[in-house]
Amino acid sequence: MTAPLIDPFQRAISYLRVSVTDRCDFRCVYCMSENMTFLPKKELLTLEELDRMCSAFVDLGVQKLRITGGEPLVRRGIMTFFNAMTRHLDSGALQELTLTTNGSQLERFADDLFAAGVRRVNISLDTLDDQKFADITRWGRLPQVLRGVDAAQKAGMRVKINVVALKGFNEDELLPIIQWCAERDMDLTFIEVMPMGDIGNEDRLGQYWPLKDLRAKLAEHYTLRDLAERTGGPARYVELEETGQKIGFITPLTHNFCESCNRVRLTCTGELYMCLGQEDMADLRPALRNHPEDNAPLEVAIRDAIAHKPKGHDFDYSRQSVDGRVSRHMSHTGG
Ligand code: SAM
Ligand code: SF4
Repeated sequence: MTAPLIDPFQRAISYLRVSVTDRCDFRCVYCMSENMTFLPKKELLTLEELDRMCSAFVDLGVQKLRITGGEPLVRRGIMTFFNAMTRHLDSGALQELTLTTNGSQLERFADDLFAAGVRRVNISLDTLDDQKFADITRWGRLPQVLRGVDAAQKAGMRVKINVVALKGFNEDELLPIIQWCAERDMDLTFIEVMPMGDIGNEDRLGQYWPLKDLRAKLAEHYTLRDLAERTGGPARYVELEETGQKIGFITPLTHNFCESCNRVRLTCTGELYMCLGQEDMADLRPALRNHPEDNAPLEVAIRDAIAHKPKGHDFDYSRQSVDGRVSRHMSHTGG
């Protein structure tokens, strides 16, 4: 029996998020600049290497795998990887295989994802207005994503909509979005914008809509009940008593959620980030590539990395300047 992954603060690491590509078919203004330079393809782990890497984590006790990016569904051949992961669901080692997507390719992939064992999908969608959607994603088109949402539900997947709360942008859509999710029986989570990566001229403090303000606005219309539910991540949940809807809040900046953190993040080049909000990482690629037939060095490298997982992040907007900023983009580490 292999010993589970336990970090220095006695947190068991059971959740791996994997960014399978840094590329994307959108250019959301809070995530990317218009002219991004992406990694050369040869830097990327191949799909076989991603399989070996994820399987090593599963062997070490990871029970939940979330595939993200960039946009995971634009990575060529990505279904081969999902299909390969199905064996870990079948064996019972993996409890959940899931993904976070912008939804643009779901019309094409939803049935295949369900067949591979994906039962839940997070779809990022910040507005239900065609023009605003085109503005915020630069290259995205709302009808295509809405067809993706339909396809995911039709395939049998439970959908959660992720909305980045943006001051002056989707404040006025709070209630319509909640209602839309209720009508379609979809879960909903709001995310505070985080200071990650140089995205051009956008002013992050200008975009920042604290979720405590969002919550206060919500309380004008609904009775909120805090739920005890925790997922080991930064989400906190409330129930709207009038409708029974459960709403998540991801507030990395206004609350500290690190004490129960159970996750690490792997990039498409094989870097392991122990914390979304820190620059520290371990490059696992040499241990993987230099030993194609032997997983032991990779396991040692993974254990060594987990032994360096920091206590928490240092994001801080409170002094009216963006402190604790991280230089890489969210699409690099995988949101
Ligand atoms: N492309 C996929 C998508 O958009 O769902 C997956 C990757 S994306 C980086 C994952 C999540 O990160 C999305 O929900 C996106 O809205 C969020 N995100 C990106 N940049 C962010 C930032 N600076 N602050 C907060 N959330 C951000
Ligand atoms: Fe692409 Fe997702 Fe970033 Fe938008 S948030 S640019 S969809 S990776």
